Amino acid sequence: MRVVVKVGTHILSEQNRLAKQRIENLVEFLVELMRKHEVILVSSAAVAAGYSKLKLDKKLLPNRQAIAAVGQPLLIEAYNKRLALYERVGAQVLLTADDLDSRKRTAHAKAAIDTLIKHGALPIINENDTTGTEELVFGDNDRLSAHVAFHFDADLLIILSDIDGYYDKDPHKYKDAIMHKVIHSIDTKELTVPCNPGSEFATGGIVTKLKAANFLIKRDIKMFMASGFDLSDVKSYMFEKIHRGGTLFEKEK
Ligand code: ADP
Repeated sequence: MRVVVKVGTHILSEQNRLAKQRIENLVEFLVELMRKHEVILVSSAAVAAGYSKLKLDKKLLPNRQAIAAVGQPLLIEAYNKRLALYERVGAQVLLTADDLDSRKRTAHAKAAIDTLIKHGALPIINENDTTGTEELVFGDNDRLSAHVAFHFDADLLIILSDIDGYYDKDPHKYKDAIMHKVIHSIDTKELTVPCNPGSEFATGGIVTKLKAANFLIKRDIKMFMASGFDLSDVKSYMFEKIHRGGTLFEKEK
């Protein structure tokens, strides 16, 4: 099985810098996943990683692009430091969702990804923030990760979020919100509500995740959304095949 794992800025950063302990936990999970499956990581947080070295006003897009350019190698370095403990290596792959609109470019990218996976490396995909600004403006890589899952033939996209699943209403606003366990289709009106970014850096919100889920359900690819702060739900889903917490989006059989 081929699995794409997408982690948001909120998980990877803390107070304007990379959250070291959470990256360690994530890498431990990824390495275990790589023993059983083909794994591709889509990672945000270049801006958070770069901000400690280049403190520019993040309200301006060119500044966010510049900070991301500083942060991207630092982000890869942080992953590689941890991966090395397990004798694994990460590979930087910079894409934009638009790259995947071209069949030729998609084929080239897929050949590189397949080769990396075959040789035990972990492809770490991020948006190329100096040429594309979608992540920095809207998606926090939710859309990119859905396109990656589809074009690189994944069976499952795992979205590790700051929330542990998809609820009937925003759980940060309503205490009685109930988590959906399985979703087979997404109502179009859910896809049009304004985005609600969860943190200073994050730009996604639940809507971009629902759009990703909608795109994948239509193509019969599963999406599992779970907490990236506490990996126990995703671990039991992937390693014990027990669906405790988290929301599974899948086409009705
Ligand atoms: P990430 O940074 O992990 O990609 P975001 O913070 O951008 O995620 O989006 C997740 C946030 O969306 C949650 O923390 C929550 O406040 C908000 N949200 C709004 N509506 C819902 C809902 N129905 N179910 C879950 N989360 C929701």
